[in-house]
Amino acid sequence: MAGKITFTMIKPSAFKSNYTGAILKMINEAGFVIRAMKTIKLTKEQAGAFYAIHEGKPFYETLVEFMSSGPIVAVVLEKENAIEDYRTLIGATNPEKAAEGTIRKLYAVNMQQNAVHGSDSDENAIIESDFFFSKTEWI
Ligand code: ADP
Ligand code: MG
Repeated sequence: MAGKITFTMIKPSAFKSNYTGAILKMINEAGFVIRAMKTIKLTKEQAGAFYAIHEGKPFYETLVEFMSSGPIVAVVLEKENAIEDYRTLIGATNPEKAAEGTIRKLYAVNMQQNAVHGSDSDENAIIESDFFFSKTEWI
């Protein structure tokens, strides 16, 4: 059965452009409940560790640079069918291919600076949430 938790980050480009409020509004209006949230600036080491699964890919180095270039907002979200529904809300990785009305279509700069992260599985949602939050920081 699909889990209820997903993890998202508002990436540095979207944070810098002051899209945080608009993105959180879309998230809430889509029925997600915020279980934990913080604003944080990642070190290169932290960004590299978070995206370790992509190590070796051509975009990895610039992704780590980008994700450590400014503040991000890390958020744990709860909803039925969280992973799939959130991926639908954010749209495709490449914003040019993202559906109309999705977060990435509205707020991405390009494929790398694509406004938000979204977990790809129940297992990774927990790993990613644990990367940023201790259990005492969840409500
Ligand atoms: P998603 O974030 O949709 O799950 P991936 O897990 O494949 O996508 O990639 C992680 C992140 O790496 C993307 O959100 C994007 O910021 C960046 N990225 C992925 N593919 C590319 C690419 N071809 N060029 C530049 N950046 C990329
Ligand atoms: Mg991914």
